Amino acid sequence: MFQTLARCSKLPRKYIAFLLFRCMLLSTMRSYIADFFAFLCVVTLAASLHAQETSAKPEDTEVWQPEPKVVTPGTDFAKPPSDAIVLFDGKNLDEWVSAQDRSQPAKWNVADGVMTVAKSTGNIETRRTFHNYQFHMEWRTPENITGSGQARGNSGLFLASTGKGDAGYELQILDSYNNKTYVNGMVGSIYKQSIPLANPMRKPGEWNVYDVVWTAPVFSDDGSVNSPAYATVFLNGVLVDNHFELKGETRYIGQPFYKKFDGAPIKLQPHGDKSEPLSFRNIWVRELP
Ligand code: MG
Repeated sequence: MFQTLARCSKLPRKYIAFLLFRCMLLSTMRSYIADFFAFLCVVTLAASLHAQETSAKPEDTEVWQPEPKVVTPGTDFAKPPSDAIVLFDGKNLDEWVSAQDRSQPAKWNVADGVMTVAKSTGNIETRRTFHNYQFHMEWRTPENITGSGQARGNSGLFLASTGKGDAGYELQILDSYNNKTYVNGMVGSIYKQSIPLANPMRKPGEWNVYDVVWTAPVFSDDGSVNSPAYATVFLNGVLVDNHFELKGETRYIGQPFYKKFDGAPIKLQPHGDKSEPLSFRNIWVRELP
């Protein structure tokens, strides 16, 4: 390059050498100046971040609204809290209707603060419909044992009733005290879907307690599932289903499936086996967002 410049420009070689040296010097200086400014920027930014950190306060990450509402708990864990809807307090079946014909009253027997299944009258369900909720119910299987497997003390708590008969999402009720059956059909199972995490069943004739958190499925306009149903279930205070994701409605034969619905009653099943009827008491529900 030096030779070419000398030939083309006809300038003395010494002068060209001087010019090139000067260009190189300037270029090196520019590079140092750029580096210096970059360094200056980094130092300034770090100082600014440090200043911000040291000025952060605990209040910056405190959330004060919305404030959870005050709820007075029952005098023991089984009694309904102040915001519960009482579905059965031992007096009458005013909150219940026939699942076969919702214009008809529920015809199960009420005596001594307890409702007892009248098998010939079929399923009963709540007059009201629900979406997400917390639910409490006490239930008793017959003391006089007859039958075995699914034919002993069978009933069902349908967390969402989506039609007549056994349509809906069933949490199994069964006498599973020393009574073997398929485990996804024993007490505490979401029938034919979940296997309960434990078997805390009490003896026949003693009262059991279900506490359930139900998250209803959410559907799109076209019927597709936006978000599946979930159930968390305690039996006698012991966790048996932990935020279990349901695969759809209960199917006795075949695979569960989802079918769009919006708000549903809670249903109880008499079951057609020959064992003596079950009894229920102290049923309440708290609606959840
Ligand atoms: Mg059942």
